[in-house]
Amino acid sequence: MTVKPYAERIRVRGLVQGVGFRPTVWNFANRCQLLGAVWNDAEGVLIDAVGSKSAIDRLADLIARQPPPLARIDGIERGPLPPDERPDYTRFEIIESRGGDIHTGIVPDAATCSACQQDIQDPANRRYRYPFTNCTHCGPRLSIVRAIPYDRATTSMAEFQQCEACLAEYTDPADRRFHAQPNACPDCGPQVWLENAAGERLHGGSEADPVEQAAGLLNAGAILAIKGLGGVHLACDAGNEAVVAALRTRKRRYHKPFALMATDPAMIRRYARLSDQEEALLKSSAAPIVILQQGGEEEERLAYQVAPGQQSLGFMLPYTPLHHLLMEHLSRPIVLTSGNQSDEPQVISNSASHERLSGIADYWLLHDREIVNRLDDSVVRVMDGHARMLRRARGYAPAPVALPDGFSQAPAILALGGELKNTFCLVRDNQAIISQHMGDLENSATIREYHRSLALYRQLYQHDPALVVVDYHPNYLSTQWGQQMASEHGLQLETVQHHHAHIASCMAEHGLGRDHPAVLGIALDGLGMGEDGSLWGGEFLSVNYCDFRRLAHFKPTAMLGGAKAMYEPWRNTLAYLLSEFEWEALLQNYGKLELIQFLDAKPIANLQQMLARGINSPLASSCGRLFDAVAAAIGICREQASHEGQAAIEMEALISQQSQQSGYPHRLELIDGQYVLSWRPLWRELLDDLAQGVPAETMAARFHLGVIEAVTGTAMLLCQQQQLDTVVLSGGVFQNRVLLEGVSERLRQQGLNPLSPRVVPANDGGLSLGQAVVAAARWLNRTC
Ligand SMILES: [Zn+2]
Ligand SMILES: [Zn+2]
Repeated sequence: MTVKPYAERIRVRGLVQGVGFRPTVWNFANRCQLLGAVWNDAEGVLIDAVGSKSAIDRLADLIARQPPPLARIDGIERGPLPPDERPDYTRFEIIESRGGDIHTGIVPDAATCSACQQDIQDPANRRYRYPFTNCTHCGPRLSIVRAIPYDRATTSMAEFQQCEACLAEYTDPADRRFHAQPNACPDCGPQVWLENAAGERLHGGSEADPVEQAAGLLNAGAILAIKGLGGVHLACDAGNEAVVAALRTRKRRYHKPFALMATDPAMIRRYARLSDQEEALLKSSAAPIVILQQGGEEEERLAYQVAPGQQSLGFMLPYTPLHHLLMEHLSRPIVLTSGNQSDEPQVISNSASHERLSGIADYWLLHDREIVNRLDDSVVRVMDGHARMLRRARGYAPAPVALPDGFSQAPAILALGGELKNTFCLVRDNQAIISQHMGDLENSATIREYHRSLALYRQLYQHDPALVVVDYHPNYLSTQWGQQMASEHGLQLETVQHHHAHIASCMAEHGLGRDHPAVLGIALDGLGMGEDGSLWGGEFLSVNYCDFRRLAHFKPTAMLGGAKAMYEPWRNTLAYLLSEFEWEALLQNYGKLELIQFLDAKPIANLQQMLARGINSPLASSCGRLFDAVAAAIGICREQASHEGQAAIEMEALISQQSQQSGYPHRLELIDGQYVLSWRPLWRELLDDLAQGVPAETMAARFHLGVIEAVTGTAMLLCQQQQLDTVVLSGGVFQNRVLLEGVSERLRQQGLNPLSPRVVPANDGGLSLGQAVVAAARWLNRTC
């Protein structure tokens, strides 16, 4: 009788599919001289290992310590291999798939790995200077996929037949390019070329390298459209004031800061402060734009027009071979901003790049690998010690977020998000898959893309929702589509209040279980529809996943002129002043103030009438509008703001770290059992400061401190009264660093535990996750 050798079955959970995990295990197993097999199933990766216990220990250890770069291991479980399930292994093999419903999904696009960087720098390598070099550990993924199963035929690499050399790599488990679907080389893969505005290719000599030529044009002050990984960018020399100004005019983007690309961290340090944490983010496989504090080691400055009125700069490092090869020829950073006109989505196709960017770009650096899915550059900022997602797209989406305890029985859910900065979210297999940043659903091109992406994600994840979730706001397009989808397909429809979703989103990413006791949620943002049909945005809520109760809020103030108030901040200033004071009294006491004279030149009588009769002046308890009102009062973006939040961002930029001021006062009133934060005392002191000629920086600092004190004071009171100890901060206004850090620090000093968003944005980009978990919790409560 032969004794069967020692054998185990090992389960690996986490992000382990589509990242080169099986060949890595195959290599390790061979190194450990084990027999057996590795394959994917619905829950991750399974390994049969046959050999000695010590060899299997070594295999498990290697997997844990040296997983492939793009993998994320959540757990390794070892157990005996059931004898009846033990085939007679004669070698260690990779099995394509074994039964079951495989939900491989798709991994995010990843920046060029160091091995591929070496390949393109090595004159002896066959990929020397090849701009589309990639491997299992790097390269395009979501940006090129059309459908599952994820293999070459369902991506935009389908039209490029691999040459023999590439195919040999692709089929060799020992090779770094084993099953790398976008694998390519100069002989068989995509090509890059340079065009002029007429679409004619520029040659510049037989040996001319179009990427090097493009760099020369940038150096000479030209504006280039450059097709990258997830879209077409507009690029120019960031040190050339005239060309940056020209780009602003041509693109009709007058205020929003431009993103920058630098060759390496050393180049960034010439212009901005860079911590180790920030450097690690820049070099990560997601390679996002990282918002950094201006002030480098050298006197050298970039063009003022790169980030007018800002104290920060958004930098990224090269993340494709094309970018690496381009940046090699440049001695200072380039602007690399989305290729579009004003608020349109970034263009992705060669033809659209000519249609939409003619008159903006001088030259086009294009290639023939089609971008299937638009992926904007992600934006991250380190605040209160942690990286915070401001825009989640390339490099992060569609990596799933694990749902906390208690959600494993949730049905398939589709949450459609909000209106601005939209994302949508799919729940399945105890995970939330959040789409990349879609943009504002006000633009017809964005809307088309939203529907296309929704269809793609549902196909990629084989997602057939039982439940559709929307915001309360009846006019959001996403709400209307959700209602339509639910009625057409007979699905359940769940509606989730905007600020409840903001707070629940943050609870979920921090792993608060489904039955976690209520938390104090503080949602500070622009606008969201409240339960009472009025607009909210400065909210203190008692929140659990299923429900919430409004405990306190900012005093509602009119948005004079409705939506106009978002783009003409002075309207908010006037509304605040008129809600607290008589216009005649203001003229009498502060008539010499430039602010009052400015407002007096507006049709005050008409505006007062509008307020009195409530015509086109909806009340909003919005924190964002308070920021706008104060910013306009101290002279920031008073007449016009080109985007929501611009005034608040510019006001934050005024504050220096050292400013020691007293905050503006507030008043907390109890009205009909609800606390209301009133800013009347603030406005009186602010007007006095203006009369005394106090500098704007000081007023901005006093305002931020005043809000921090008001918010933490109110939080303390409510926590005590309601016996709450966890405070969850969310909403777009918490993307303000001074506010987030100030509130968090003070709450911690009081022994509270503040939580704030990290992996999903605090702004409306995080709504879809919150909607999904609230709907899931309600469904589970009803059925379990
Ligand atoms: Zn690579
Ligand atoms: Zn090839």
